[in-house]
Amino acid sequence: MAETTHQFRAETCKLLNILTHSLYTNHEIFLRELLSNASDALEKVRFLQSTGGDVRDPDLPLEISIGIDKDNHVITVADTGIGMTEQEMIDNLGTIARSGSEQFLKTREAEKAASGEKSSENAESEEDGEEKSFSEEEPIVEHDDSKPDDAAQIIGRFGIGFYSVFMVAKKVEVTSVSAAGDGSPHVWTSDGIGSFTLRTLEGAEAEGIRRGTCVKIFLRDDAHEYEEKFRLEGVIRKHSNFLPFAIQLEGTRINTTAALWREPRFSITKEQYNEFYKFLTYDQKEPLDVIHFSVDAPVQFNCLLYIPGSAVDVFDEHRDEWGPDLYVRRVLIDKHNKELLPNYFAFMKGVVDTEDLPLNVSRETLQENVVLRKISQTITRQLLTHFERMAKNDPDKYEAMWKLHGKYIKFGFDSFQYRDRVAPLLRYYSTVQEDKLSSLDDYISRMKPDQKEIWYVAASSMEAAKVNPHLGQFRRKGVEVLYLTDPVDEFALEAIMEYQKHPFKSVELAEVGALDAFPDVENAEPKPEPLSEEEKPELDALVSAVKTILGDQVKDVRVTTKPIDGAACLVSPDGVSSSMEKLMRVMQKSDGIPQKILELNPDHALVRSLMHICRNGAEDDTFKDMVNALFDATLLLDGYMNEPFAMAERSMRLLRQAAGWYSDLRK
Ligand code: ADP
Ligand code: MG
Repeated sequence: MAETTHQFRAETCKLLNILTHSLYTNHEIFLRELLSNASDALEKVRFLQSTGGDVRDPDLPLEISIGIDKDNHVITVADTGIGMTEQEMIDNLGTIARSGSEQFLKTREAEKAASGEKSSENAESEEDGEEKSFSEEEPIVEHDDSKPDDAAQIIGRFGIGFYSVFMVAKKVEVTSVSAAGDGSPHVWTSDGIGSFTLRTLEGAEAEGIRRGTCVKIFLRDDAHEYEEKFRLEGVIRKHSNFLPFAIQLEGTRINTTAALWREPRFSITKEQYNEFYKFLTYDQKEPLDVIHFSVDAPVQFNCLLYIPGSAVDVFDEHRDEWGPDLYVRRVLIDKHNKELLPNYFAFMKGVVDTEDLPLNVSRETLQENVVLRKISQTITRQLLTHFERMAKNDPDKYEAMWKLHGKYIKFGFDSFQYRDRVAPLLRYYSTVQEDKLSSLDDYISRMKPDQKEIWYVAASSMEAAKVNPHLGQFRRKGVEVLYLTDPVDEFALEAIMEYQKHPFKSVELAEVGALDAFPDVENAEPKPEPLSEEEKPELDALVSAVKTILGDQVKDVRVTTKPIDGAACLVSPDGVSSSMEKLMRVMQKSDGIPQKILELNPDHALVRSLMHICRNGAEDDTFKDMVNALFDATLLLDGYMNEPFAMAERSMRLLRQAAGWYSDLRK
C-alpha cells in the first residue's frame, strides 16, 4: 500500500529533542498524556452523541484498553474515541503547538454563534494565553450545574503532550479510524527523529478495525519497565485514576473512581462523597463536611474539599502532605499543591480541577502562578463563608470542627487580608464557660457595662490557666477571662490587637485598679482584715528576709499591688506576659529559669504567718525551707520546675516537722 513520508517541521524536531532529553524528567507521565488524549477523544464522542450527532460504530463502549506484548517489548493504548482522519493525523500529530481539541472547541463556538445560541463557556480565558491580573474583589461566578458544558471539558491548549511518548519509545505507530470520516484506518508511524510516514489500510488489513485510535509503543531498551503490568497499574492509579472513562489493563479495569468533583452536586450521594473521601485520605472516619462547588469566572475550576472527621497532623510529621491535589482537565498535575490554600486551611483535603492551565505546566511555574493565586483567593473566600455559616447555623458541628482543626484556623491571624474574617471564627474556653467554647462575640455579649478590654490568661494547659494567681481579682469582680492554652493563641490575639474596638489584654498585665469600677460579685470571699499599724513593719521585714534567702534567683521581692489568688506570684520586670516570654525564650534557645519579680500577697494567711515568724526573729532553717517552698510552688504555677530533687527533699523536711507538730498538738 502507498506510503507517504512527511518531514516534521523544524520546531517539532527541536521540541522532540528537548522533550526526550530534558523537559520531563519523569518519564512515566507519557502514559498520563496518552490516557488524557484518549479521554479527550472519548469526551468528544460523548459530546457528539449527547448533542444528537452521528458517529461511526455508535454501540462501541467508551473506554480505553491497554495491552502488553512482552515478547516484542510493545505496549498499546487504544481508545474508542473520536479518532483521526488522515489529514487530522498530519495536522495533529505532525505539528507542534496545534491542538486538535482547541480547534474542536473553536468550531463548536462558531457553530453555536451561527445558530444564535448563547455561549455558556467562559470566553475570558479562551481568547489568548495571556495571564490577566485580577482584582481581589472580583465577583465569583458560581457554576450553574444545569448548563451543559461538555465542550468546556475538552479544551486542550498545548499540543506537545503526545510527543512525550518518545521519552520511552523508539518507534510509535498510531492507527486511527475517525468517527466522522469514511471509515478507513490510517497508520501514522515515526521514530520521533525527523519524519513520519502515513499509510492507509485496506482490505484484510483494515478488517475489524473500528472507531478510535490505537497507539502502539515500541519501548526503548531503557524503558522495558513499562511492559510490567504492576508498573503500568501504579502509573495509572497515580496519575489517571479519575479519568471519567474505564481504563482496562489487559482486561482488568484499573481506575475505580470517576472524577466526582466534576459531577453536579445534586447527582452525588453522600455515600459517594464519603467513598471518595476515604479513597483520598485513608481516613476511616466520615468527613465532617463536604464543600463542593464550581466557578466559571474569573477562573474556571471545580473544587471538592472535605473537612476531615479526624484530627490531621500536617505541622509535625506530615509536613509536606497538605494541600489539595491539583488536576488539569481531570489529569493529576500536582499532589498536595500548597498554592491552592492558605496554611490556616491546611487541614482541608480534596481536589481542585481547572481548565485554565496547560496540562504540561511545570511544577516550578506552579509557584506564583496567577491562575492558581486566583483560584486560591476564591477558595479561601468560599471556605471562610462556609465556616461563618456553619458557626451560625450549626454551632455544635462548628465546635466539633474547632476541636479537631481549630489549631490551624488560628493561624489566620497571619493573613493580613482576611484577619477580620478569621477573628470571629476563633473559639476559646473561659472562666465563665469552662466546658463550652465561646466566640469573641459571645465574650463581648457577656461583658460588664463599661468593660473595655477582652481579658485572657495564657498558660500551657487548662489546669495551669485555672490556677493562675492573677485570676483572683477577675473572679472577685466576675469579669470573664479567656483561657489561651495553645502557644499560638497569644500571638494571634496580639496580632489581631482588638475585636469590635475592645483590645485584648493578658490578666498579668492588668494595671492597678483596672477592675475597681466593677462591684464585687455577690458570693465573693470576704476581704481579710487590713494590716494593723504594727504589722506593716513586719511585712517590710518579711520582704527583705525573702530577698536575702532567694538571692539572685529573683530580680526583686515586693508586695503585690493588685489582688491575686494565692500567697505569691511572679511578674516580668519588662511587662511581657509570661507565656510570651516563654515563647521568646524557646526561640532564643535559652533554658534555665528567668529572673523575675516575686510579689507577696499580704492578704494571704501564709504570708501573714511568715510575717509573724519574722517578728519573732525566728529566721531559722525551717523558715528558709518555707520561703523556698513558697518560691518553688510559685515557679511551678508559672510553668517552671526548679531543681526537683532539692524541692522534694525540702518538702519532705517540712512535712516531717509539720507532722511532728500536729501529732504533738493532738496528744
Ligand atoms: P493536546 O492533547 O494538548 O491537544 P497532544 O500533543 O497531546 O496535545 O495531542 C495532539 C493532538 O493529537 C490532540 O489535540 C488530538 O487532536 C490528537 N490526538 C492525540 N491523541 C489522540 C487520540 N487518542 N484520539 C484522537 N485524537 C488524538
Ligand atoms: Mg494531550
